[in-house]
Amino acid sequence: MSTAPALDGIRTERLIKASSGWWFLGPQGSARLRDHQVTPEGTVRPETRRYLVDAGLCEPPVLRTYALTVLTSTDCNLGCAYCFQNTAQDPTGGSRPPRIERARLDSDTIGPMLDFVSQRMAESNLERLSVLLFGGEPLLNPRACVEVLNRASELGEMSARMVSNGTLLTRTIAHQLADAGLSTVQITFDGDQTEHDTIRVTRSGRATFETIIANMVRATEETSLRWQIRVNVSHHNHERTDALLERLAAELDPSRCSIHFAIVGDAGVGYGNDLLHTDTLADKMADWQIRALEHGFAVGRPRAAEVCLTCTVPDGRYGAVVNADGVLYSCWESAGKPGWEVGTIRNGYLSAEETTGRWVTCHDGYQHADSAAARTAFHDRVDVTFLDHLHASGRL
Ligand code: SF4
Repeated sequence: MSTAPALDGIRTERLIKASSGWWFLGPQGSARLRDHQVTPEGTVRPETRRYLVDAGLCEPPVLRTYALTVLTSTDCNLGCAYCFQNTAQDPTGGSRPPRIERARLDSDTIGPMLDFVSQRMAESNLERLSVLLFGGEPLLNPRACVEVLNRASELGEMSARMVSNGTLLTRTIAHQLADAGLSTVQITFDGDQTEHDTIRVTRSGRATFETIIANMVRATEETSLRWQIRVNVSHHNHERTDALLERLAAELDPSRCSIHFAIVGDAGVGYGNDLLHTDTLADKMADWQIRALEHGFAVGRPRAAEVCLTCTVPDGRYGAVVNADGVLYSCWESAGKPGWEVGTIRNGYLSAEETTGRWVTCHDGYQHADSAAARTAFHDRVDVTFLDHLHASGRL
């Protein structure tokens, strides 16, 4: 009988100082610890660790799922200035920044890609498949999205998500995707309507906020699709995040949405975010999360570590990122960028020597205006406030 692999070599525990005591976050759950259960050096005392182990909180997760990220189109119909796939800012100051090279997924690539995936799943002894449809804008190539889902579902138990800007999610496409097994769509907002419509504009400069909301409302009414809402936070829009939250709660069905707030970093194309990771901003972010929860949105619980297994494990054991032309990359952030290729679906991965320096992980390329220590302290403060709220409200 085969054994599913466990996760080793990756940090799966975290200890955060709270205003009173500590929060322990393990792979299987969290626990609130008293000060005397933690050493002055900030480690869990042996007798407390035994309790956490006995409670099952330290059990390493067993991996059964292979994660396929596939770009169906590297083109995008929007012209966001901060997009990590831009190769520069628009030299005219408009909304047509130059992008990574154009590629479009077709049936001739989907077949070999799924053969490659099937082989990798067998080699890694993984029986489930998680598909992420990605771009550019994946819905510039809806036929390939549907074909990938229909054919991938033959490889094993499949779950499927899509990252989309939401502007092209017509009634017909929403039905086709949901029927083919898509469960969730991640949609990004950049502040309330006024700010969003100056940042996330079409390449001809048109606003997108109302179209996105209308598409989400209709797809919610007519299909089973759920939504992962990402709210980008920058110096342009943070003052209006409260207003956005109220509007989303009023116009969408929060019970079908999760929500996540993220500070925009500089992906190296000249879009800086002046917003610093201050205590004030941390408190605001925790407050947004708590208010979102009270509105009925799902809000992810703080975890030990945000680990992307596709890019963190350096031989593609747990997943692959496939560009629309069939070239493999370690990470969705490097996909389609010259010099970052790590193999092809037809020939497999290059050797470790050949990919040295190319095996990047999520967010490696992002620059922030403040230090890593400041960002860690920021996230700890947000997470502690949120955990304390969950505890006080009986949700934890
Ligand atoms: S919608 Fe996404 S892919 Fe398109 S330009 Fe904006 S950030 Fe980039």
